[in-house]
Amino acid sequence: GRIRKWYGTLTDIEDRKRAEEKLRRSETYLAEAQKLTRTGSWAWDARTEKMLYCSDELFRMFALDPEEDLPSEKIWDRLVPEDRNRVRQVCSEAVRARSAFAEEYRAVLPDGKMKHIHVTGHPILDEAGKVFEYVGTNVDVTERKRMEEELRGSEARFRTFVDHATDAFILHGEDGTILDVNRHACESLGYSRDELVGVALTAFDPRADTAHMQLIGERLASGEVVTFETRYRRKDGTQFPAEVRVREFRQDSRRLAISFVRDITERERTQQERERLRQLEADLARMNRVSIMGELAASLAHEIKQPMAAAVLNARTCARWLRRDVPDLSEAVDAASKMVDDVTRAAAIIDRVRSLYRRDAPQSESVDLNEVVREMASLLGEAGARSSVSIRTELDPGLPPITADRVQLQQVLMNLMLNGVEAMRDRGDELTVTSGRTEDGEFLISVRDCGVGLSPHENERIFETFFTTKPQGTGMGLSISRRIIEAHGGRLWASANVPSGAIFQFTVPAPQDGS
Ligand code: ADP
Repeated sequence: GRIRKWYGTLTDIEDRKRAEEKLRRSETYLAEAQKLTRTGSWAWDARTEKMLYCSDELFRMFALDPEEDLPSEKIWDRLVPEDRNRVRQVCSEAVRARSAFAEEYRAVLPDGKMKHIHVTGHPILDEAGKVFEYVGTNVDVTERKRMEEELRGSEARFRTFVDHATDAFILHGEDGTILDVNRHACESLGYSRDELVGVALTAFDPRADTAHMQLIGERLASGEVVTFETRYRRKDGTQFPAEVRVREFRQDSRRLAISFVRDITERERTQQERERLRQLEADLARMNRVSIMGELAASLAHEIKQPMAAAVLNARTCARWLRRDVPDLSEAVDAASKMVDDVTRAAAIIDRVRSLYRRDAPQSESVDLNEVVREMASLLGEAGARSSVSIRTELDPGLPPITADRVQLQQVLMNLMLNGVEAMRDRGDELTVTSGRTEDGEFLISVRDCGVGLSPHENERIFETFFTTKPQGTGMGLSISRRIIEAHGGRLWASANVPSGAIFQFTVPAPQDGS
């Protein structure tokens, strides 16, 4: 029973060891690659419907232990029920058809987390052409799904934002071909999105010519945001004015441009309307002056007649002294200098009236309010007399000069006084203009008439531009007057006179030193 001899063989297992080492390495690399790409691989026996092989990554994917038996039902259990039925059906159909399959499903792990998994399987057929195995991969696409959903969400948000924008957004390629548009672009041009995509933007712009487009292209290429105004033609042939802002940007290696198109019909209309009103206002302001000028022509004639008559008288006297046998030079000189005075007075009256029609910029000069009232009372005396209205002034002598625009204040007084005269036309009454101070020390001018008066609802409306109750009225006088007084830092308002008529009053600030 004792060992006598040992027999043995030596086998060179170098190659086998190397092969094993190589296999181990390649298995490690494969496992690493599977981990990195979140890909698990498997083999499935079509006849026994059992798993033949599952890679470690596959176990991990479903939170299963690689040390345990090969899972089969455990994996199916992880699938959300509605996906489970669908994928089972796809698999059995693939087996029947001996075809490959690819599906995506959701699985819920024990910790409640949901995974999105993409599975692909390939059949392996035996010699008889029967499926005996399927090999395949499962890829965890949860992260990709999340990113896709996020992107879809942000795209949807962006799309909503772009579609609700009140400007038209047009995305176009370097050659001007439209690539995408927002809803507003479709609405304003009258085309559907499909009709617009692929068409050159210039097709809607009758003004776009090659030179113009080239110039814009060059400016865009230099990084500029180009803004221009043009007109776009709608599908129905009508056109609308548009302000276009274009900027270029790069997407990968492509040069794209985006145009923001704003319909400026309303803006143009407002501008035109404003211009029309400005023109109308200017015309009416001129008419206001012209109609006042008509009134003044009579007063002017009357005022000038008197110094002219005196000048003629003095000229005759002067001639008489000179024609004497012994000319009395001293009397002649006396008469001639009186004549100079008369003519100077006439010239001063003309100057005063002329100053009312000059279109000068507002002046700041020292103005004696009482003097302005006196002047206007005398200028309008004749106009009043023709309407049987006399003008009376009650002036506070203690008002120092203020800094103001004399001509503008004359205009205000003239407007108020002529309105008063018109309100009392042929009633044979008196228009009273007083100067004084308010309780706050401001200077106050009141023009009081006993005319038709103001109805309560007219009280503020009369200051609106163009409000008039007179057939020949312009409705400018009071609005211009109020504007002038406000520009001087004062107020102009109307109230009822007792027992009848209206009082128009305005204030102007007292001079700075308070005197
Ligand atoms: P216009 O005299 O050209 O109508 P105004 O702006 O000077 O323009 O006056 C507007 C309106 O205010 C007049 O049409 C008139 O109805 C009313 N109004 C102005 N002053 C008086 C006044 N003293 N008495 C009654 N109504 C007046």
